[in-house]
Amino acid sequence: MKASNSDSQAAFRALPSVDEVMRDPRAVELTRRVPREMVQMFATGAIDAWREEIRTQRLAGGELEARLARGDLFAALDAAVARELGRGVKRCVNATGVVLNTGLGRAPVHPEAAAAMALAARSYCVLEVDRETNERNQRDDYLGDLLARATGAEAGIGVNNCAAAVMLMFQTFAGGREAIVSRGELVEIGGSFRVPDVMARANAKLVEVGTTNRTRVADYEKAINDRTGLLVKVHTSNFKIVGFVEEVGPRELADLGVRKNVVTGFDLGSGLLEIAGATELASKLGGEPLVKDAVASGVDVVCFSGDKLLGGPQAGLIVGKRGAIAALRKNPIYRAVRLDKVTLAGLEKTLELLRDGRADEIPSRALLNLRADELRPRAEALAQALARIDDLKVEVIPERSQPGSGAAPDVFLDTFVAAVRHARLGATALSLALRRNDPPVFTRIQDGAVLLDPRTLLGGDEEDLVRAFSNLAGRAPAAARQPRA
Ligand SMILES: *Cc1c(COP(=O)(O)O)cnc(C)c1O
Repeated sequence: MKASNSDSQAAFRALPSVDEVMRDPRAVELTRRVPREMVQMFATGAIDAWREEIRTQRLAGGELEARLARGDLFAALDAAVARELGRGVKRCVNATGVVLNTGLGRAPVHPEAAAAMALAARSYCVLEVDRETNERNQRDDYLGDLLARATGAEAGIGVNNCAAAVMLMFQTFAGGREAIVSRGELVEIGGSFRVPDVMARANAKLVEVGTTNRTRVADYEKAINDRTGLLVKVHTSNFKIVGFVEEVGPRELADLGVRKNVVTGFDLGSGLLEIAGATELASKLGGEPLVKDAVASGVDVVCFSGDKLLGGPQAGLIVGKRGAIAALRKNPIYRAVRLDKVTLAGLEKTLELLRDGRADEIPSRALLNLRADELRPRAEALAQALARIDDLKVEVIPERSQPGSGAAPDVFLDTFVAAVRHARLGATALSLALRRNDPPVFTRIQDGAVLLDPRTLLGGDEEDLVRAFSNLAGRAPAAARQPRA
């Protein structure tokens, strides 16, 4: 609504000052929850925003009076404080059914790995020193051995994440030189991680060979010259090309590398480590390549993530030939992307669980292994508990969960979900209200219903989930209002 000039003047005068706002008991109450300066900052921001609305004639005097009378300013402050207190890395309930959910922190680590991480964080620890000789050594010596034994590789090394591993690989072997990649494998992993961009930043000249759907070993061979530093395969983890397709396998690439004396690398991403005695995850995941097969193919270095199918903390792991791993270690960039003691402690514990035949206990692997007939009674129990809450209509329906994180993009895992509809809130408002709960609850929306997939619920999550819905019963309209500061 347009406001006249004199009306604007009146509106400006009617705006409260920050001091007035801060003297109000409602603001004083907020200063008991957060520092006074913070309330003041939010008050200044809210008043400035209203002043701007008046200046641009989007807020007239009458509407301003109405807002002030309703207490909108204090509602906005209250919401800003609540939002501030809810920020940051907080435990949440993942009811999305996406097991390796990047937005929700990917793999929840095993309790023993979490305990090892907490202990390393709060204490001194034997990190970069040999306890026999008291001399400096490599912090990831033991990790390297665990990785080598688990994958059949000669050596291993750990860095911050798989993106860093790939960057380090390109920089070490193709920095100032050329790297040959198939056009079908110039992928974007997400979060602006694109293979060609990474190569450019690693100062590696990209030499594309083949076509989107077909690349042959002769294509690589023809492109090799005396500037070639690396032949690379990238696992197209988040998409699949089907139909008239031909790609060069890791063994062919490794053989070519040996013949031409060029280093070969394979970015696997997901990092499925299959171990004797564990439930066969590989077959469930639609033939996701195994790290040990990639290693056995003879490529010099294989990169994969620590927090995808391995189920450990965030890390990038590289295994391969001793000389190649040593070259990575010598690169100063390794120093910039190496692992910290907390992550190392968690990774070592996760790999020890694998070594000790306890792979199926690792949470993300256990969640991926859950069968629909095991999930059905849990969805039904959840639906029963929710049906007792006002305004909710719940049904149990067959659905499909996803591995997530680009691991096996075309694979869906059968599950049963509780589909929830609210009498007054639409699915979008309902899911927002659930995200605002403490702990936040993340869900999936489909056909106007909020879906709760028990596959990704960890111990204790069911109670929190039901409580989130009961909390909502009392304050559904407020939750839907979405106040803004
Ligand atoms: C996920 C992925 C990456 C990036 O791994 P982060 O651990 O997220 O850094 C790199 N390459 C491939 C093929 C991937 O799937």
